[in-house]
Amino acid sequence: MFFKNLRRFWEKNLVYRVFIKKYKRYFIIGTISLVAIDIINIFPPLVIKKALDILSREVNLTEIATLSFLYLFISFFQGICRYIWRMNFIGTSFRCDYDIRMAFFKHIETLSGKFFQKYKTGDLMSRATNDISAVRMAVGPGLLVGLDAVFYFFVIPPIIIYLSPRLSLYTFLLMPLIPFIAYKIKNVIDKRFRMVQEQFSRISEKVQENISGIRVVKSFNISQQEEQTILRLGKDFMRKNLSLAIPQALLGPVFEYTTYMGIIILLLIGGGMVIEGAITLGTLVAFQRYISMMVWPMTATGWSISLLQRGNASMKRVDEVMNEKPEIISKNALPYVPQGDIEFRDISIRYEGKREWVLRGINVKISAGQRVAIVGPIGSGKSTLVNLIPRIIPVPGQSLFINGTDINTIDLKALRKAIGFVPQETFLFSERIVDNVLFGVEDEKIRGYCVHELIRMVAIEREMEELPHKLETYLGERGANLSGGQKQRLTIARALAINPHIIILDDCLSAVDARVEEMIIKNISGCFLGRTIIVVTHRLPAIKSFDMIIVMKNGMIVEKGTHGQLIKLNGVYTSLYSKEVLEEKLVQ
Ligand code: ADP
Ligand code: MG
Repeated sequence: MFFKNLRRFWEKNLVYRVFIKKYKRYFIIGTISLVAIDIINIFPPLVIKKALDILSREVNLTEIATLSFLYLFISFFQGICRYIWRMNFIGTSFRCDYDIRMAFFKHIETLSGKFFQKYKTGDLMSRATNDISAVRMAVGPGLLVGLDAVFYFFVIPPIIIYLSPRLSLYTFLLMPLIPFIAYKIKNVIDKRFRMVQEQFSRISEKVQENISGIRVVKSFNISQQEEQTILRLGKDFMRKNLSLAIPQALLGPVFEYTTYMGIIILLLIGGGMVIEGAITLGTLVAFQRYISMMVWPMTATGWSISLLQRGNASMKRVDEVMNEKPEIISKNALPYVPQGDIEFRDISIRYEGKREWVLRGINVKISAGQRVAIVGPIGSGKSTLVNLIPRIIPVPGQSLFINGTDINTIDLKALRKAIGFVPQETFLFSERIVDNVLFGVEDEKIRGYCVHELIRMVAIEREMEELPHKLETYLGERGANLSGGQKQRLTIARALAINPHIIILDDCLSAVDARVEEMIIKNISGCFLGRTIIVVTHRLPAIKSFDMIIVMKNGMIVEKGTHGQLIKLNGVYTSLYSKEVLEEKLVQ
């Protein structure tokens, strides 16, 4: 039972989990060289004791020369060992740092929208940088220094007991105090360090929001207000850091103080013993040297404990994210069958934590190769409906079928590869335009020729020609140097570049004018003949010729059919259509 618990504790231990489990060899080599140095360091006081005992009798020059030569050799050997342990401990800690950071990033990529609502960007960034660095400090310097200290704790006491048991007893009187004090201070450090890291997350969040939303901040003249907030957060951060500094600063001095108390006792009592003739002067000096040598491990223990403590607190924050389960899991996934139909079977959706249903009892079948439009007022659930198809939001079982198979059983990667999805909000990376368009294309051959065709298809060719470096132009953050309509068209080109079987455009042409929207839809319909095309739009004339038009209201499908059929119905669609036509006439 005890060993089982010990084992479980060990396996959960940060140092084991992050470092030793993976890099056993480096750990062993590092430890051996560390112990080698420490063993060498143990000898000088004994040599000095001998020299002193000899010196009180006679002076011998050759013996001193030999001694000096020995020291030279020892220093050289120490240098080599020090290099080896540095490489093995500190070097490997950077490998661990890399491992955790990569795993962290990869994991985040599998998480869904719900996760990103829970954690803000700045918070995630501080976990990925600050916290992982704290873990590295723990498994690098923290572990190294800790091992070093432990070695001295095991080796020096037996030697001094051997030199003089009585003297050792007196000096050790104060020692049991140390673990007790260390434990108390350690707890305080743990709590305060976590507070500091959380505050840092808060600052990162705020700064990140302000930088990415700089235009809003400036145009609403709230920069002063924001400055005040950040200033306040910064002050709080400083206060928390200072409150952490107190126990941290206490740790070292408390240990040192205890050790020096030991030395004072030693001099008082040991001096008396030399006079008595109970021990030699050499023994007393050697004894004092050993006690002094204990100062370092005492301080080191404190430092090591605090580094390990910080590392643990930080690892907890990293683990919190790592324990978030990817929301959408492919259970024994089936391959995607191209050219499938899409069927919604009585599907109802509500968002997590919300009471209202956003979609209610949706039943609709879209056959392969059909062109389908979804129209309806803002907030009627159009985006929610199309987001279900690439499973951007989780789909309840047995309610959405692709080619007759429940979508949840289809391999998610394959499914998404087959769907060219353009979300309502555009997002471009700060890369060259051509890289943004060919983002999802891996095949080099396709990359070569398709970009110009795509640019023409989304009717942006001429505008691209006017840019200083044409398609090679670098975009600012989120495509800052383009207009809204240009960004929208490039996102469409990006979705089409993967040659999808199902194309979904979610209201993504709102910033181009009606004539251009119509032209782009026509181009896409022509080039992707036989593919399923779903378009969410407010401009009804553009989709007049579609095979099916779905009219949504309050999360329900209120009408569906072709343009002709719906006009005959003389219902919601007809009123939307006549309003739209009227508006367009007014614009002209
Ligand atoms: P549409 O695209 O037709 O404008 P949406 O599908 O975007 O409509 O939204 C339908 C309803 O769902 C709205 O009332 C909206 O507030 C709500 N909604 C949309 N996205 C979320 C979300 N991530 N969390 C909670 N509610 C949401
Ligand atoms: Mg929408």
